[in-house]
Amino acid sequence: MLALYIAMEAEAQDILDALDAQRLPQQPIIGTYYQAGDILIATSGKDLATGVDCVGTEPAGIVANDLIVHHGVTRLFNAGTCGAHSSLEAQIAEAFLVSPTIFSHDHRIPLPRFEEFGMGAHPMPKEIPALAKKLGLRTAILSSGNSLDHTERDLEIFLANGARIKDMEGSSLAWVCRQHDIPLTSLKVVTDIFDLPHPAAEQFNANLAQAAESVTAVTLRILQEWGLFDN
Ligand code: SAH
Repeated sequence: MLALYIAMEAEAQDILDALDAQRLPQQPIIGTYYQAGDILIATSGKDLATGVDCVGTEPAGIVANDLIVHHGVTRLFNAGTCGAHSSLEAQIAEAFLVSPTIFSHDHRIPLPRFEEFGMGAHPMPKEIPALAKKLGLRTAILSSGNSLDHTERDLEIFLANGARIKDMEGSSLAWVCRQHDIPLTSLKVVTDIFDLPHPAAEQFNANLAQAAESVTAVTLRILQEWGLFDN
């Protein structure tokens, strides 16, 4: 079974509506689950202490592991937003498929082998470039960290790994999928050009609605391609 992981409720709402997804009667403590035909849809859920969406690596990893271990998920599809590096010359709301790799830029462990573990370098399925070509999308290397902003060191590592798009969940989902040997498809839509002087957070808020429309359109198009949605 395929599961779709969407970190934020605001990114997920139109997809939930389009697929007529129903909230599962039994909900986990971490994450919110919906069923739409043969597709399980999970968001990161709301944090009990602050009421906000549980963005970031920990909830993503916990939910992904639960989906695979307890819900028979054998393929994961992550759709969400990202920041783009200016060198990519991306438009706001442009959609990318992640290929060939997902890294972490804030998981630094300067010890033999642990360094490699922290860096991630998770390989994406080899079919992704062909899918991107068919849909007319560009591919890019994704790097994840637990901050919406970045330090100089984060940026150095990000660029050294060839990454051009940045999120807060991808590396965690990719790591869990890699441990279980199941394929991950990652779709990322640009909300902000993160290395401009204008803070990513302000751009994010200004562009989220436009980006979410694109997340919905491309997600449905990919599900259609896989025979899981028809319009
Ligand atoms: N300010 C937002 C917080 C959302 S956090 C709010 O008030 O709702 C950002 C989410 O979008 C994360 O799920 C992350 O994966 C993605 N994202 C978008 N742009 C990003 C960037 N520049 N860096 C890291 N994550 C980004």
